[in-house]
Amino acid sequence: LPLPAPRRIKALAEDVVNKIAAGEIIVAPEHALKELIENAVDAGSTALEVVVKDGGLKLLQITDNGHGIDKEDLAILCERFTTSKLKAFEDLTSIGTYGFRGEALASISHIAHLSVTTRTKESSCAWRAHYADGKLVSPKPGQSAEPKPIAGRGGTQITVEDLFYNVPSRRRAFRSASEEYAKILDMVARYAVHCSGVSFSCKKHGSSTADISVPTAAGTLDRIRQIHKVTVANELVTLEAESDRWGFKCNGWISNANYSAKRTTLLLFINHRSVESTVIKKAIEQTYATFLPKGSKPFIYLSLDIEPARVDVNVHPTKREVHFLNEDEIIATICDEVRSSLSKVDTSRSFMTQS
Ligand code: ADP
Ligand code: MG
Repeated sequence: LPLPAPRRIKALAEDVVNKIAAGEIIVAPEHALKELIENAVDAGSTALEVVVKDGGLKLLQITDNGHGIDKEDLAILCERFTTSKLKAFEDLTSIGTYGFRGEALASISHIAHLSVTTRTKESSCAWRAHYADGKLVSPKPGQSAEPKPIAGRGGTQITVEDLFYNVPSRRRAFRSASEEYAKILDMVARYAVHCSGVSFSCKKHGSSTADISVPTAAGTLDRIRQIHKVTVANELVTLEAESDRWGFKCNGWISNANYSAKRTTLLLFINHRSVESTVIKKAIEQTYATFLPKGSKPFIYLSLDIEPARVDVNVHPTKREVHFLNEDEIIATICDEVRSSLSKVDTSRSFMTQS
């Protein structure tokens, strides 16, 4: 057979590249929401409200009371790689904020209708701006794309509408709005437990009752009690571990041997970012296996602080995965602490039943 002629190589159009990148970062509504929550927390907010319609596909709105955005920055807010948090590559080793690469808002603007209302302390009014494909756009034909002055409180409100409206294949992949809403509640719940000093609420659009609500002053255990029910909170003990050698510190609340669930709940934060880790989950489940009846699983809230220089947050744009040095040693230290904490509770209980 004759070889086919090579096809010519051409650069993809910029909007195609941007849409592909956006679809990788924002796979589902919960991912957009996670980025928006992290931005609000980065902005020093102490109150955070989330409103959701159709599992976030129709509407995802988050209102904060943080430092707001300068009017002068609104023009480049949604451009790719524009950020107030990172200047040099080396800064990645000491980054203290959640975001760092200025991709979230840009991504969202490529796959949804995005609008922002924001007011800083210095500004005498709030400013509203609408975005598409990274740029300011006019909300209605004939109107200017420039940000408009309006009345508003200090802080920022981000409104994301019609997520994936221009990615029909992705849009079709979502079968149930209630499934997406459940994932959104799970994400809000994670940050609501972790972010002491910040109030959270999350509700469906048009509903008068919030599905999640925690006040600013609530401590961590109270937050868990309100979100994960009293039955969980009553069976929790604190966990603390640290090691200078491995450059980490951790604290959290873990269930004792009285508690058992069908599935493990692991609320894991590494340097204040909610992450997944099958390695940590497996190790902890294994540690619990000797204390719990077969098939019973624990509840774990774990906040792990690792020296930024030892963490590589730059593994993937989603930042859902984090790699760090001495992972095995750190996990072993934590599991040792879990073990000794569980056996302490065990002895006190058998002691009590004997007396
Ligand atoms: P990153 O968080 O990586 O910097 P984003 O695209 O998430 O990138 O946000 C871009 C910039 O927009 C941020 O650096 C920040 O300056 C500003 N910003 C976004 N959300 C908020 C908010 N809720 N309050 C104040 N500033 C915000
Ligand atoms: Mg961000």
